[in-house]
Amino acid sequence: MKTIEQKGMYREFPRCGKPHARTTHYCPGCGHGIVNKLVAEACAELGLQDRTIFVDPVGCGVFTYYYWDAAHISAAHGRAAAAATGAARARPGAVTIAYQGDGDLGAIGFNNAFQAASRGEKFGCIFINNSLYGMTGGQMAPTTLDGEKTTTTPFGRDPATTGFPLHVCEVFNALKAPVYIARVSVADTKRIMQARQAIRRVFELQRDGKGYAMLEILAPCPTNFRMNAQDAAKFCIEEMEKEFPLGVFRDDSSHVESAVREIPRAASCAELFAGGESAPPVADDPNVPERRFKFAGYGGQGILSLGLCVAEAARLERRHTLWFPSYGPEQRGGSASCSVVVGGLRIGAPTVEHPDVLVCMNQPSYERFVGDVRKGGLVIVDETVPIAVQPPEGVRLKRVPAIAMAEEFGVPKAANTMMLAALKTFKATGLGDDSLETALCASFKKKPQLIEKNRELLHRAERRLAED
Ligand code: SF4
Repeated sequence: MKTIEQKGMYREFPRCGKPHARTTHYCPGCGHGIVNKLVAEACAELGLQDRTIFVDPVGCGVFTYYYWDAAHISAAHGRAAAAATGAARARPGAVTIAYQGDGDLGAIGFNNAFQAASRGEKFGCIFINNSLYGMTGGQMAPTTLDGEKTTTTPFGRDPATTGFPLHVCEVFNALKAPVYIARVSVADTKRIMQARQAIRRVFELQRDGKGYAMLEILAPCPTNFRMNAQDAAKFCIEEMEKEFPLGVFRDDSSHVESAVREIPRAASCAELFAGGESAPPVADDPNVPERRFKFAGYGGQGILSLGLCVAEAARLERRHTLWFPSYGPEQRGGSASCSVVVGGLRIGAPTVEHPDVLVCMNQPSYERFVGDVRKGGLVIVDETVPIAVQPPEGVRLKRVPAIAMAEEFGVPKAANTMMLAALKTFKATGLGDDSLETALCASFKKKPQLIEKNRELLHRAERRLAED
């Protein structure tokens, strides 16, 4: 049974490291402690604990998962808005609340938070502004006041060199999407009561699916202000409020409709591959083992298309399959890779850390991935790649003259088709020859004049590999 004063909080905080801890890690007089209690109360009193996902920051508020009795995601520094976006989109019925400080939100995470607000993501952000970095020892934050002394501005912040305090609410108020933007304080009882109402408002808006809400809370940090609790609260009222006036900047909730944001539909393999055909339904088959592939080489070698070809062949056989490219900045000229997973049952993750089959077209890829191949697995590598590193024990290595064959056949760009021939020859995919060939032809659907040529190249390469 929870007592009144523990509403929304765990009865004890054993994850602090002490089995029966009842006190938080916050310093005496810290605004976080007050806000933590108000947040927990609002969540519990509105009956939202079972629906709430808190996204915890890096900073002094990092340990809220010790205290608030609800679901939590711990985000990387400044990335609470990104994590909250994911949570809110994946669980549209949840009440998602990001809790962040001014270093986390105002500095490293500002763009994340700003873009999420601009998109009107369905979460509430509770933003603690204590005008400095608390956890790391009181350095200047974007919200540090003009003239305020911190460990990195020992003579006081000088706007000439470090800029002016960042007004998060005012900046966010220039955006169209947010439904609610307000600034409150927890520096005295009257203000705490106003903050209590505002925090409840943020929860209610999320409960009703109204959209993005930003609540900035001015909070004392006696430790880094180097003041007692009373003076720190006074500093909040007399100095911080001059720079950061309290008030409701926006409340559009009365004329904003609740709406569930649809989860964007991922393109199916068929759409990626064959230009919009709908995929035949997959058929669950627990007897088909999951196989994991990694295809890697230089950008431009057609390595991603090769992976897509295997995924398409799996689709044609109504298997579950995922294709996951990785090219980013390496897309042109550097290494590119893709993962493919094929199985008889629904696949949990598209990434492949330990492939059953690795196909490599260049040396950096080979050296990067060969050590990851599972025991009993197969590595197919172009013969131009020097084998300075041996595959792990129990892994077969096949060297294939894919690039040389493609050049010899007069189509240097078809090295990936040569590799497909190798996959067929070594029975590496567990997929039928017809499916692989049909998939190859489908990959040229937009260039039908190349279909027969590539089919011929595939057969030629197969014959050559069979002779070797
Ligand atoms: S350092 Fe400041 S913000 Fe952090 S817990 Fe202590 S008083 Fe609170």
